[in-house]
Amino acid sequence: MQRLVMKFGGTSVADGERIKNVAKIVERFRAKETVVVVSALANVTDSLLNFAKKVKTHVEEEEIKSFVDELKERHRYACEIAVNEEFRSPILLEIEKLCNDLEKVLTGISYIGELTKRSLDYVLSFGERLSAPILSGALKSIGIDSIWLSGGEAGIVTDSNFGRANVIWEKTEKLVREKLLPLLKDKVPVVTGFIAVDERGRITTLGRGGSDYTASIIGACIDADEIWMFKETEGIMTCDPRIVKNAKPIEVLSYIEAMELAYFGAKVLHPKTIEPAIAKNIPVRVKNTFNPNSKGTLIVSETKKTNGVVKAISVMKNVSLINISGAGMISEVGVASRVFNALASANVNVLMISQGSSEANISIVVSREDADKAVDSLKKEFKDEKIVKTIECNNNVAIIAVVGAGMRGTKGVAARVFRAVADAGVNVLMIAQGSSEVNISFVVLEEDADKAVIALHDEFLS
Ligand code: ASP
Ligand code: MG
Repeated sequence: MQRLVMKFGGTSVADGERIKNVAKIVERFRAKETVVVVSALANVTDSLLNFAKKVKTHVEEEEIKSFVDELKERHRYACEIAVNEEFRSPILLEIEKLCNDLEKVLTGISYIGELTKRSLDYVLSFGERLSAPILSGALKSIGIDSIWLSGGEAGIVTDSNFGRANVIWEKTEKLVREKLLPLLKDKVPVVTGFIAVDERGRITTLGRGGSDYTASIIGACIDADEIWMFKETEGIMTCDPRIVKNAKPIEVLSYIEAMELAYFGAKVLHPKTIEPAIAKNIPVRVKNTFNPNSKGTLIVSETKKTNGVVKAISVMKNVSLINISGAGMISEVGVASRVFNALASANVNVLMISQGSSEANISIVVSREDADKAVDSLKKEFKDEKIVKTIECNNNVAIIAVVGAGMRGTKGVAARVFRAVADAGVNVLMIAQGSSEVNISFVVLEEDADKAVIALHDEFLS
């Protein structure tokens, strides 16, 4: 293979030993030209996030210091394990410098008592900025020349939508090529996942789990032959193995199937990961760090209808079902548009929509953290009017999505889905099927979700 992007998530680089192991994987599987993308060490992003929120309400300087010291120790220790002595000092220096900066930023936040999205992105960026130098040093230690770069240094430029920034493609493509291609001749660059810069050079993030996205952005920019995502599972599974014991890895998925699965909560890939790969038709492979020889899941543009029509079943918990109803809605033009405008202005992302043809109600599903905002915005929009009578919100629900491109044009899949669910004694609250027919999704009470999923997996995938 000529050109490969390899991405390693937090669990893959949890500590010094694991980082060493990642270096060996790179050594074994690398192509003529390879870029490595790395996440923060396991749980670092979460702890930065939680601590930043806590600091906002003011904490003592001592506490900030001990938080940063602990983080520093963890990275120094990983460095000592993973990196040979001769390469350590610039890395330890970098860790020292980053931790000093972090302490200052956290102290600042604590004094001002304000945590903006921009400063939060800055705080979160330390996770990846601390991990990349260590992995780069681990590669050098086994004789692979390497250099570390932040997402911004690698050329990824976004808008200023902190927390979930959008890539500015023309700029990014040009810059990434300019910066990375010359390095690839004799080095394996290690790029921080998840973070980038806006056009003014301020650090942004691509949304939680965004390192996958970084890998595919880079892959698309440099026209990689493949993009490999190393995870701690055997690829993408037919279902969450914690719910269904005989869940198994899926060999081949199409881009669209993988996107549906990522979107509907199979937390294997960041939902935007596939888009850049599609644009350049680059195969994406999801592989297991702990078993790198196994094939994992290959994601490509088209797949034949493999045995059976359904590829996977995913569950999304932590969602809320909102029902908007009233006889006045019948034949009233513009109600739906007002609903979605109100939600959009409140910055609420809608996960599922359905409207019965009686038009007397519209049901939507949003993530639970958005539910209050959503209900408030709808109540405000329809106050003192006769059109909408009630707005009800049920927080105790889950979305189940049945995904498979083979469902397209196959008769009777929906019937089998709902018979299996009914036989399991589960009541369905809402249904939607996109006209792509790649996905049937429906809503059940959260306590019924596992039962329904097990029944569906038995019906289609066992
Ligand atoms: N470290 C970031 C996060 O935990 C990005 C990633 O892991 O992909 O969200
Ligand atoms: Mg992570």
